[in-house]
Amino acid sequence: MFVLLNNKFIDRQDSLIDIEDRGNQFGDGVYEVFRIYDGEYFLLDDHLKRLEFSLKETQIDYNLNQSKLKDQLLTLAQKNDVVDGGIYLQISRGSAARNHPFPEQTTPTVLAYPIPVTQPKEQQQNGIQATLYQDIRWLRCDIKSLNLLGNVMAKQHALDYGVNEAIFYRDKDHVTEGSSCNVFIVRDGVIQTHPANNYILNGITRLYIQYLAKQLDIPIKEEVFSVDELKQADEVFISSTTSEVISVIDIDGQTIGDGQPGPVAQQLLDAFFDHKDIQQLP
Ligand SMILES: *Cc1c(COP(=O)(O)O)cnc(C)c1O
Repeated sequence: MFVLLNNKFIDRQDSLIDIEDRGNQFGDGVYEVFRIYDGEYFLLDDHLKRLEFSLKETQIDYNLNQSKLKDQLLTLAQKNDVVDGGIYLQISRGSAARNHPFPEQTTPTVLAYPIPVTQPKEQQQNGIQATLYQDIRWLRCDIKSLNLLGNVMAKQHALDYGVNEAIFYRDKDHVTEGSSCNVFIVRDGVIQTHPANNYILNGITRLYIQYLAKQLDIPIKEEVFSVDELKQADEVFISSTTSEVISVIDIDGQTIGDGQPGPVAQQLLDAFFDHKDIQQLP
């Protein structure tokens, strides 16, 4: 496997990162997961725009040259023969003697490599089960930060409970998102999802779904919903780069709708592939 590490393409065994890299000590960095379909990056510019946002918000002093990084990502995919799969990228603040303040002089560490991703067809066809989990994360969930302990604990809780996904709630009136995905409900033909603010990560797939809903003339609103509204919804589905669109058919033993993936999620999933050649979101 070829890894992109600080502008060099090197073999995985040679891709050493310093023990005092701040990504390692503090989770002091940001990341992206890109999807490649038919040898082409999907919504690459939108991901890079979000990466730039994450870097700015964390004040990581990295002068992101989008066209250079884009070229490197394309080369990385080619070198690894990625036709249908994913690329993981992270940028940490860099390496320095362990100390909380931002170091005076360090260069951010840029790392990218391919990850196996395939369309989750079985889950899309049958839907998944989920459990609610208290949103124990910090209040800057809009940054795609390497700090994922809250997310990791939520996911493991779900798996230990025997279901696939954890859905976060701050309190009973405020459902936020999933452990690594956004959450949508459908009520009386209207799609609803949490507003893009500091409580959620504004998924590129979430934005794509908003775009698709407009194309399909399905009303969509960004408004907080409650745990009850979630459980009583006609449909619930999640979205992410790797999940695309997956229906949630059961939450903590409560059947959602008729216990089958719903028609709105199916419509969106069909449209997802019909519009996949879109270069950038409007
Ligand atoms: C990455 C992520 C998402 C989904 O974002 P996409 O850009 O659609 O992959 C949603 N929530 C969290 C917490 C995430 O980390």
